[in-house]
Amino acid sequence: MSSATGGLRELHQVHLALDACYRQLESGPRQIAVLEKRQAAKQAEIDAQKIKITEQQKAADKKNLQFRTNEQTVADTKAKLNQAKSNVEFDIFKGQIAKAEADNESIETEYLELLEQVDAEKVALEQLEAELKDAAAKLQKSRAEFSELEPKVKAQAAGLTEELHEAEKCLPAKEMGLYRRLVEAHGPSTLAPLDASACSECFVELSPQDIVEVRTAKLVFCKSCGRILYSADPE
Ligand SMILES: [Zn+2]
Repeated sequence: MSSATGGLRELHQVHLALDACYRQLESGPRQIAVLEKRQAAKQAEIDAQKIKITEQQKAADKKNLQFRTNEQTVADTKAKLNQAKSNVEFDIFKGQIAKAEADNESIETEYLELLEQVDAEKVALEQLEAELKDAAAKLQKSRAEFSELEPKVKAQAAGLTEELHEAEKCLPAKEMGLYRRLVEAHGPSTLAPLDASACSECFVELSPQDIVEVRTAKLVFCKSCGRILYSADPE
């Protein structure tokens, strides 16, 4: 086994492992942010639901007050019937009583409907509160998991960064500038193993000459995508 080929394979492995660490360090906070947003949205739904219930309850109370007022009107007017000074006045009182009683029939129906709505919205609120509790638990779990994971992954990344510096020593000094630019552009896919006789990154076939050079551990750049090629076989 040629040491340079093994070196490139090793270099690629370290790049991939380091990239996996960075991805983990990015995905934790991203997931937490999503869960925070979800929790805030649920809380906003609950706040809106509470306002809705308060408004419906107020409307119900208003109907109830109207009902009681009408009942009082009926009672008061009934009391006045005996004191009516004329048939006309008696009929007026009768009319007032009939109207108040008729009004109260519809007011009572509306009142009961509103109470039913309040009950239904309270059930919906309970559901929302259960969902909020669930969202909060998920957020807490995610935060706890990440705060446990973060220092471990950071330590792993620090170790891998050192390994990377070591592994980079297999590259010829004169190619380091180009290598750095490739890493800047392509990250861990700066290196690509051969896939049979093709570059595994862009799938363009290599010339037989290039294949020989890759296998003999010369530094070969893919002519199509520019990746540093190495032999995939551990030889
Ligand atoms: Zn390529």
